[in-house]
Amino acid sequence: MRSCLRLASFALVAALSAPALDAQTPIPPVRADHPAIKAALETIKADNAWTIEQQVSICEIPAPPFKEERRAAEMKRRFESLGLSNVRIDSIGNVIGEYRGEGDGPTVMVNAHLDTVFPEDTDVAVTRAGTLLKGPGIGDDCRGLATILAVARAFKLAKVQTNGTILFIANVGEEGPGNLRGVRYLFRKPPTRIDYVVAVDGTGLGIVTGAVGSNRYKVSFKGPGGHSYGAFGMPSPIHAMGRAIAKMADMRVPTSPKTTFNVGIVEGGTSVNTISPLGAMDVDLRSESAEELARLDATFRKAVADGLKEENDRWPESKAKVTVDIEDRGVRPASLRKDEAPIARVAYNAGVTLGFKAEMGAGSTDANIPMSLGVPAITLDGGGQGRGAHSMTESYDDGDRGYLGPQWVALVVSALAGVRGSEARVVP
Ligand SMILES: [Zn+2]
Repeated sequence: MRSCLRLASFALVAALSAPALDAQTPIPPVRADHPAIKAALETIKADNAWTIEQQVSICEIPAPPFKEERRAAEMKRRFESLGLSNVRIDSIGNVIGEYRGEGDGPTVMVNAHLDTVFPEDTDVAVTRAGTLLKGPGIGDDCRGLATILAVARAFKLAKVQTNGTILFIANVGEEGPGNLRGVRYLFRKPPTRIDYVVAVDGTGLGIVTGAVGSNRYKVSFKGPGGHSYGAFGMPSPIHAMGRAIAKMADMRVPTSPKTTFNVGIVEGGTSVNTISPLGAMDVDLRSESAEELARLDATFRKAVADGLKEENDRWPESKAKVTVDIEDRGVRPASLRKDEAPIARVAYNAGVTLGFKAEMGAGSTDANIPMSLGVPAITLDGGGQGRGAHSMTESYDDGDRGYLGPQWVALVVSALAGVRGSEARVVP
């Protein structure tokens, strides 16, 4: 998701840093006045009920982590019925449909993620009350899936002709356990040609221009364990972990670029009078800066190693020793915010054209992958208003202007791909 993983201070930071647009950089023009684009925008607004219907019906198909197949098959069917070309499911499970360009313009990928955070047996029924929809995943990211369907449909109906090809993608593996595997796969070597990425994730009208990187680990301290009284005098995995956590709690990190750490789960122990054979913790390290994240990672590893050594050294006579294992539970690369990049400015300008000023910030989304590889990428919200992402009480309110989300994505994607007949109007 996008809103759930976004920085907590996102709105505040963004509000304070409206982009100072640099008139020197050439950026693709936003063509809301082009007849076909105008028709596409009108279609999106007029057929808003269709978009909502997509959002509800796609969301009632479960898509737990690593089990996105059913929802993927349905997205494939919908891509086909909308008339996209070469619709297929790749070997990792991403659904891809092409909207063929008629020139040699850039290839633009616009994607939304299929997966949710909810386990298989979750009741995914959606309830409606006016413009309010309630159901697990209804905003994150059924809104994104509905948005890309609405855009593809509007382009087809309005016969929008683009220079570059648009790849509509419903991808697997965005949420935590998936570790961005769907988008990672798209950018594997040799990569599919992709010049721009517009990920649509969650609700609201914000732009993610930077990638919050994260390193996640399961750290397991292990030893023989024994009776707390009878075997007293041997190092304890839980005590070693406690020493490591105390050191981590004192780690110093910069506020800008925002860098954070957390021990989110601790496990281990069998009874109050047992020296536990195991002390394990789940650790989350994050930063907007790859350099700061690497520094924090090194400090964290030293804290673990020092905690282990101190505990073993505490009992020099003991033959039993504690060992530690650091298991990788997901790495998301970081990339500093690029609010001035042409792709971000296109998105900002498109928002202004539609009557709003989008806030910019950093997030942890599918766009982390292209951003970290230097491919121009942003994540856009899908409009409306969401609450309670990743919870059973998740809701989405389309309000009276929910259609702005799909309209925005349509404007941005068409501007990046280049609209036929608008080339002469590009201002350098
Ligand atoms: Zn999401």
